[in-house]
Amino acid sequence: MGTPDSTSTPFWGPDFAALQQSDPDIAEVVLGELARQRGGLQLIAGENFTSPAVLAALGSTLTNKYAEGYPGRRYYGGCAEVDRAEELAVRRACELFGAEHANVQPHSGAAANLAAYAALLVPGDTILAMSLPHGGHLTHGSRVNFSGRWFHAVAYGVRESDERIDYDQVGDLARAHRPKVIVCGATAYSRLVDFAAFRQIADEVGAYLMVDAAHFIGLVAGDAVPSPVPYADLVTCTTHKVLRGPRGGMILCREELAGRIDRAVFPFSQGGPHMHTIAAKAVALREAATPTYRAYARRVVANAQALTQGLQAEGMRAVSGGTDTHLALLDLRAIGVSGGDAESRCERAGITLNKNAIPFDPVKPMIASGIRVGTAAVTTQGMTETDMKEVALLLGRAARADDDASLRDVRAAVAELVSTHPAYPRR
Ligand code: PLP
Repeated sequence: MGTPDSTSTPFWGPDFAALQQSDPDIAEVVLGELARQRGGLQLIAGENFTSPAVLAALGSTLTNKYAEGYPGRRYYGGCAEVDRAEELAVRRACELFGAEHANVQPHSGAAANLAAYAALLVPGDTILAMSLPHGGHLTHGSRVNFSGRWFHAVAYGVRESDERIDYDQVGDLARAHRPKVIVCGATAYSRLVDFAAFRQIADEVGAYLMVDAAHFIGLVAGDAVPSPVPYADLVTCTTHKVLRGPRGGMILCREELAGRIDRAVFPFSQGGPHMHTIAAKAVALREAATPTYRAYARRVVANAQALTQGLQAEGMRAVSGGTDTHLALLDLRAIGVSGGDAESRCERAGITLNKNAIPFDPVKPMIASGIRVGTAAVTTQGMTETDMKEVALLLGRAARADDDASLRDVRAAVAELVSTHPAYPRR
């Protein structure tokens, strides 16, 4: 423990009055965003509401500390306290996920993927990953991202018949292109991934298996979906989606890759770690190890399934027929609305979600035939499967509404619903 100062509480942290006084413009933004988060339905699949404890660690004086290097091996003095934060975060991550090694320094999911590739590949090497239009992420080989520029990226996708990953295609492409790394895990794929099938293909062609668990690591933490850790050479993830931690990334790997991963994060791709964020990751990992969190993770999936059923009843088609996770992808062509129009109408009605291309989408991604929804945030605020029926009704009404009056009506109903389950209740 640091030595407490002479004030009544030794914590010197978020002081909103000081922000209002020194920068009223930004104070207004902070209040406006809190009101927005509280006042509407937050259905972006990768968003959540962090706990007050996570926010307190984020808003702490740990942000002041330079700590390049790793605990006990820093390039700066004065790191004893922050070393403890990082050691706790690493230990908690290893325990929670049964991993041999964890690196908690990546600033984001994209930064974790950059470091993972840097540890395993050199420019020009081949990777095999899920195609972006079928649900993959930009860092899985997109032309507009470093991953597609620096590596030879080959893409697999889903079958047109059932919109599930085509494992035969993955195997055929792996045998034809002999990738050094095979990546699985996606941004807009609602089904469980068969890690054993990927492992078998990776072993057959001598590739590393990298699982990008950015979206579902929080469900793994709560034991609501199977873990990729026993199958993967390394797992990259974010800490801010279902896991409910601060915005950031993390890499879990086998001991034999630990040194390469650590060097690929620092000094190869990052400078000083964000120690306030690492402390907040430690807090979130401790929260995620509780029975309360496990129950939460299971409710997230049950809510996603209830929401999907409700949206199907509204005439939307669930891509792949449903969901096993926290998110669903809906094809809106049957109700004659584009994803882009649904997104903007819902926003006006206080429902935040994103348009999303569906597999084999005939229209451009900026228009998109679908939407993606997720239940991590609404579940944190205490909503249940019964509430999901109501959310589906409101979303369906908003997506179809083309006049201001209808959208105002939906907005009022949304406000009433969220007022019964407030995010960040007033203290
Ligand atoms: N990987 C996947 C599968 C993702 O879905 C995302 C973000 O949504 C990322 C990586 C990147 O994470 P970040 O936005 O923290 O860079």
